[in-house]
Amino acid sequence: MNNLIKYGIDNDLATIAESKNLNISTIKNTSKRNLVDKYNLNDYQATILKRSISRHPIDEDIIQELLERSAFTCCICKGHKSDAYIIHHIEHYNKSQDNSYENLAVLCPNDHELAHREGEALANKITPKNIIRAKTKWEKEVESNSIKRLALDGDVNDLDYINVNRVLELALQINSEIPITVYTDRLLDNNLILKTGNINPELYEKYNLNKNTPLKFFAMYGSTMLIQHYYEMLLFTLSKITLYDLDDLLKISEIKKGIVGKYCFYSGGVYGRTYKEKIIDENSTPTLIHIRRKPFFVEWKVDPMYITSSTASWRIGRRPVYLVYGKIIDIQEIEKDGEKTLLIDIRPYAFGIPNKSKQRTPDIHYRDIDYSQYE
Ligand SMILES: [Zn+2]
Repeated sequence: MNNLIKYGIDNDLATIAESKNLNISTIKNTSKRNLVDKYNLNDYQATILKRSISRHPIDEDIIQELLERSAFTCCICKGHKSDAYIIHHIEHYNKSQDNSYENLAVLCPNDHELAHREGEALANKITPKNIIRAKTKWEKEVESNSIKRLALDGDVNDLDYINVNRVLELALQINSEIPITVYTDRLLDNNLILKTGNINPELYEKYNLNKNTPLKFFAMYGSTMLIQHYYEMLLFTLSKITLYDLDDLLKISEIKKGIVGKYCFYSGGVYGRTYKEKIIDENSTPTLIHIRRKPFFVEWKVDPMYITSSTASWRIGRRPVYLVYGKIIDIQEIEKDGEKTLLIDIRPYAFGIPNKSKQRTPDIHYRDIDYSQYE
């Protein structure tokens, strides 16, 4: 990271200064006049540099987090006005000297200029309130986009469930033929799958396997490859259709527009349960995983047949963090614990443990804690 960014200098000017070998101490020890004459900067650039380096630098970790969570992009125009960015103090530095995460936002030089037009009755003036709102919204959007990229990249450690039938059905419907994966040839050569794309049923008899759990007791015969094969097929298919973040659909405005039939992913903690039994196996009735977010109650019906391992069965009942791919089948009004609730029925294609998931608990703002009370 260019050190000058920490002083609230925009990245373009910081790059120019760096190319002229201007570091912080040189800027400090060089008069504004000399910055213009000797270093060939314009008057405005020299003023900004001199003024900025008199501030306390912002902590590098804070800047890194801020830039990453904003995708290095202005939260007001989302990069439409300029690629350049600047770290802006929401409550102006002169007044606040506040370099905390909450007081900082990423802006482009254009919007930065508008944010500093104080006291003017301009319609397009940007207020601190505007910036806080834009920053919060933009950070959420950036996170959702990055999780969506991970979802489409298949960023899953352990796939606990993959509904082979439903994946094949969707793949055929969208691609009009079964897509080929890097595993197809090997699976065909070893007679693990048929030309139709299905798992070869002869295998169950040959190896005396349980037909009801085609993926679970298959490991030594290539189930890892099979699971990966169908997962890649699913990802390829989902890349061709619109895949929504469930968080974006769980809004009354979206429900009114209609969400049934949409494909979506969810990333985060879920609750798992069976209807009656404690142990989830091939004899279990469909298992449910759910989340509750008032007024919504979201349920994914899990066919135990396609759970991939015993570990997976164990895990499903224990509040795992999952990345779940599914299609919204139905929505209905029900009464739950005396409250009107919208029950959303999603049929899952696959789910597993993501390498990265959404952070749903808000950061603890150290500023809000009065530590003196604990002394
Ligand atoms: Zn901007």
